[in-house]
Amino acid sequence: SSTALNASCIFCKILKGEIPSFKVYETKYSYSFLDIEPTAEGHILIIPKCHAAKLHNVPDEYLADLLPVTKKLVKALNLDIDSPEGAGYNVLQNNGRIAHQYVDHVHVHLIPKRTVQEGLE
Ligand code: 5GP
Ligand code: ZN
Repeated sequence: SSTALNASCIFCKILKGEIPSFKVYETKYSYSFLDIEPTAEGHILIIPKCHAAKLHNVPDEYLADLLPVTKKLVKALNLDIDSPEGAGYNVLQNNGRIAHQYVDHVHVHLIPKRTVQEGLE
């Protein structure tokens, strides 16, 4: 199936600038932006710059960009990951409605998990 941008896909519209988004980072293969309904402050979505509904549909060169970008953004978030009482993060990627995927354009969620104290600062 084609991985050209899809006219009726909400994340393709974001890629084309037809729907506004808060851009965090961008490479040749991916676009990263803030989730509109964040689970935590700094909840980021990383998407390939091609239309593919599920992970197994994404061409390898696009797929290969997603985790290095996730790693870069984790570092940019400056979470206190390495201390025992420090913060953490979740990396989630849902495929299929039964697995809680509601936008049919592959996306990686990067969700900071901060301590309560950090959250109040
Ligand atoms: P899913 O459940 O499909 O893995 O997650 C889809 C995510 O996309 C949700 O966290 C939702 O808040 C986010 N989302 C849906 N529509 C938009 C939008 O138009 N803009 C942004 N920035 N995020 C969106
Ligand atoms: Zn799309």
